Amino acid sequence: MYMNLERYAPNNLKRPSKGMINVHPIQRGGILTEEARKILEEWSDGYSVCDLCFEGRVDLIKTPPIAEFKKDVAEFLNMDDVRFTAGARHAKFVIMSGIKNGSVVLDSLAHYTSYIAAELNELKVYEVPNSGYPEFKIEPEKYAETFEKVKEETGSYPSLALLTHVDYRYGNVTDAKEIGKICRDYNIPLILNTAYSSGIMEIDGRKLYADFIVGSGHKSWAATAPIGILATNFDYTDKIFRKSKLRGEWSGRAFTKKETSFFGCSPVYGLPIMTLMASFPRVVERVKKWDEEIKKARYFVRKMEEIEGVQLVGERPKNHTLMHFEAPTFHMIAKKHKKRGYFLYHELKRRGIVGVHPGMTKNFKINTYGLTWEEIEKVINSFKEIAENYGVEVED
Ligand SMILES: *Cc1c(COP(=O)(O)O)cnc(C)c1O
Repeated sequence: MYMNLERYAPNNLKRPSKGMINVHPIQRGGILTEEARKILEEWSDGYSVCDLCFEGRVDLIKTPPIAEFKKDVAEFLNMDDVRFTAGARHAKFVIMSGIKNGSVVLDSLAHYTSYIAAELNELKVYEVPNSGYPEFKIEPEKYAETFEKVKEETGSYPSLALLTHVDYRYGNVTDAKEIGKICRDYNIPLILNTAYSSGIMEIDGRKLYADFIVGSGHKSWAATAPIGILATNFDYTDKIFRKSKLRGEWSGRAFTKKETSFFGCSPVYGLPIMTLMASFPRVVERVKKWDEEIKKARYFVRKMEEIEGVQLVGERPKNHTLMHFEAPTFHMIAKKHKKRGYFLYHELKRRGIVGVHPGMTKNFKINTYGLTWEEIEKVINSFKEIAENYGVEVED
């Protein structure tokens, strides 16, 4: 045998960031709650809920209460029905596969998975421009302008619109309601991608005029990957949650209960669904405390900007905990440092902080969601200390 299996020994699979403060832009909302940690062992075997499936489809299971959970998540988002998917990307793919023809209009800060979901479904993509540096804002009326542009170019309005409620680059919070209204006026169904909002912020799909809400369990609902949330209204449930009509030509086999878009059952029926459920009561509570998160985020920005050259990019004031900084002064240090751009990563790690992308100094992203005030102070002071050690001026 040529494989070195020792490399997979538990001791070699330890997570180096254990016990550190994690400010990774995509991880803060996915950190498990205590309740989810408690059930990890019990449900960790593969598809652990499948031995309790008497209904022929896992989302119909009554114990554990998955069927009820679907209803509660729908209520939480103020939508009519919900399914769980293999991530937000899968949810977008599923919706687009139910639309199929024509074009989709999406914001120019959309996640790459939105573009790829459209491409896979052969929908032509049109982008809504943003305002560019330094705020990169998406103005609602640009949606109407883009709809008109599509009409001019193709002869018909787009078949679908998508809005990234909070984008992954700048953490800007768009005016979803205003864009929702425009889509209603044009009668164009809207997918609201809430990968960075539902699960940490209150989301009311009806108030926002969303026809579809897509969420990410591992990004923002304190669940293990991979699990996504797809919520919609009764107008679309038949179309999107359509059932298999196939019959095997030779065997006569049929799968009439299985919903085709989810391959019958999406592959989330072990820890992903169980941790999503176990965290849900906390998630329902935590979204009400968003104001405090904004307070921390704005404080963090103010303090970071006391470092010479460090500046927030994206909308001001900050309305989200995901933030993007430019730091030409750190970039200057990196140019002369023997570790080059990796110096910042190493300096932070030495101080017990992980999550700033290795190699990034000119621009970097941080997410402060759920950090305590003490942790916020520790991160700020670490940045300031690093700056001062390299001769960058710090106000205070
Ligand atoms: C990560 C991300 C996604 C994809 O989410 P998955 O649940 O991992 O598929 C979609 N949209 C945005 C804005 C993201 O950041």
